[in-house]
Amino acid sequence: MDGPILVRRAAAAVLAATVCGALSTLGPGPQRVGLAAASAPAPVPKHRGSAGAQHGAVARVDCRRVKCVALTFDDGPAESTGRLLDILAAHHVRATFFIVGEQAAKYPELVRREHEAGHQIADHSYTHADLGRASRKKILSELTRTQEAIRRASGITPDMLRPPYGSVSKRLTAITRRMGLAQVLWTVDPLDWEHRDTRYVERRVLKAVRPGYIVLMHDIHPTTVDAVPSIIEKLAARGYAFVTVPELFGGSLTPGEEYVQLKSGDHQGLP
Ligand SMILES: [Zn+2]
Repeated sequence: MDGPILVRRAAAAVLAATVCGALSTLGPGPQRVGLAAASAPAPVPKHRGSAGAQHGAVARVDCRRVKCVALTFDDGPAESTGRLLDILAAHHVRATFFIVGEQAAKYPELVRREHEAGHQIADHSYTHADLGRASRKKILSELTRTQEAIRRASGITPDMLRPPYGSVSKRLTAITRRMGLAQVLWTVDPLDWEHRDTRYVERRVLKAVRPGYIVLMHDIHPTTVDAVPSIIEKLAARGYAFVTVPELFGGSLTPGEEYVQLKSGDHQGLP
């Protein structure tokens, strides 16, 4: 078994420019993935203690041998997040939520619900800030306030960060390494913040997904939430297992490293 497999962000740099739209697109709602409906549902992890990492609930699926996809939901929680959680529960799918701190402070019960349902919850800055261009002081403020808001809501302290807009820097990398945060980017971006069109989002995701990919969506948009049942059902029919981001990489992420996808060459036994 190798350690976590990662692809440097450079391979996906082209994706970064359009991520998450403008700050004004901020709204509620995160979400994440779990086992595909086609697979046996994994047991839901117990509520974990304070300050602990969430990675105890990982690696039930070997994504080097099984077709895996990680659904991720950014910018929430928001009002539409509750409905997304219902959908994920109905499909026995766990996902990864990249939470905006000020939304966590506004909807702590939804953060708690995400965690208790077995989803991974992670940091997406406090104000959806451009961390790649931020000062050290600003980065520390954005991250520590978000970590605290999520900890207060759920009892756990995240160990993953998705930098808003995919904007990273050496400074940010150094700080995330010290704070114990792996940097998670994405492979599939359906531009759901721009196209508030359920069928469009569904089509974009289904066309782009390959084994080992990370799908970026936003649970703050009801049009995106509406696309999730069909996305899950159609990917499950193709044999995909839905995993959280740590599960995709075998359960352990390295602080400071950037994760974009599980490398295709590491899918053994797949065509
Ligand atoms: Zn975002």
